[in-house]
Amino acid sequence: MKDCLFCKIIAGEIPSAKVYEDENVYAFRDINPMAPTHVLVVPKTHVASLADIGGVSDTVLAACLRACGAIAEQEGLKGGFRVASNCGPDACQSVQHLHFHVLGGKKLTEVMG
Ligand code: 5GP
Ligand code: ZN
Repeated sequence: MKDCLFCKIIAGEIPSAKVYEDENVYAFRDINPMAPTHVLVVPKTHVASLADIGGVSDTVLAACLRACGAIAEQEGLKGGFRVASNCGPDACQSVQHLHFHVLGGKKLTEVMG
């Protein structure tokens, strides 16, 4: 989608540190990491958030979650990891292209909200 930051990253128009890619998913390091590993997993097709996935195939959604697990293994997150997807203003979503944060590499805080 035109003017979408993550669509531009997927297209290679904006540089990113790629961590993982398959036919449905692209993943790259967050520019402002909150943990030693902080990766963003995004579907290659544009969708704004989890509130808007009616037209997204189960294959694509499953690919996103499988990618999160694959990245955790690739990054050696043996102690565990967290996956989060901010959806809408109350969750402080700042980029309107569905993404899953994969966080790990340290003891994360219990605070989720
Ligand atoms: P949100 O706040 O929408 O859940 O997450 C958006 C994330 O995108 C933030 O963690 C932010 O640091 C990251 N981000 C914003 N702009 C860029 C960018 O240009 N490159 C990368 N790699 N990450 C970005
Ligand atoms: Zn997009």
